[in-house]
Amino acid sequence: MTERTFSIIKPDATRRNLTGKVNAVIEDAGLRIVAQRRIHMSRAQAEKFYEVHAERPFFGELVDFMISAPVVVQVLEGDNAVARYREVMGATNPAQAADGTIRKLFAESVGENSVHGSDSQENAALEIVQFFTDADIVG
Ligand code: ATP
Ligand code: MG
Repeated sequence: MTERTFSIIKPDATRRNLTGKVNAVIEDAGLRIVAQRRIHMSRAQAEKFYEVHAERPFFGELVDFMISAPVVVQVLEGDNAVARYREVMGATNPAQAADGTIRKLFAESVGENSVHGSDSQENAALEIVQFFTDADIVG
């Protein structure tokens, strides 16, 4: 089934000029980038985005990281896009990520792990509306 997911290319990747290389992995996996914008998140935006992790010990560090440099927010479209992109990203900890995944190729650590991808269709919809309007998405 064709669906959409929400992606962020995180500061560790934008800082190292890896946006194009990450996008090449995304596109080679059959996912289409139907919206994309480079932004510098505000603290309030990052705190809202990761509010599900507010009680986790790494929350402060995670928010500081996400606002430390620009990010690229994206909407990806394709067959089973949510699950497909989670596969393409690889495990949260790059040491456990499979060969060929974005995190295996590029991530620096469990915190600075190059990309975010939605973990369910419900969260994808909630995340997309935090950064895009319908008019921004050209499928
Ligand atoms: P994301 O939500 O960014 O796609 P994920 O779903 O693989 O990643 P989550 O468990 O949702 O992983 O954690 C969200 C983010 O918080 C991780 O991507 C990472 O940047 C950071 N994080 C997770 N665990 C740790 C940790 N133990 N130490 C530091 N940062 C962490
Ligand atoms: Mg997550």
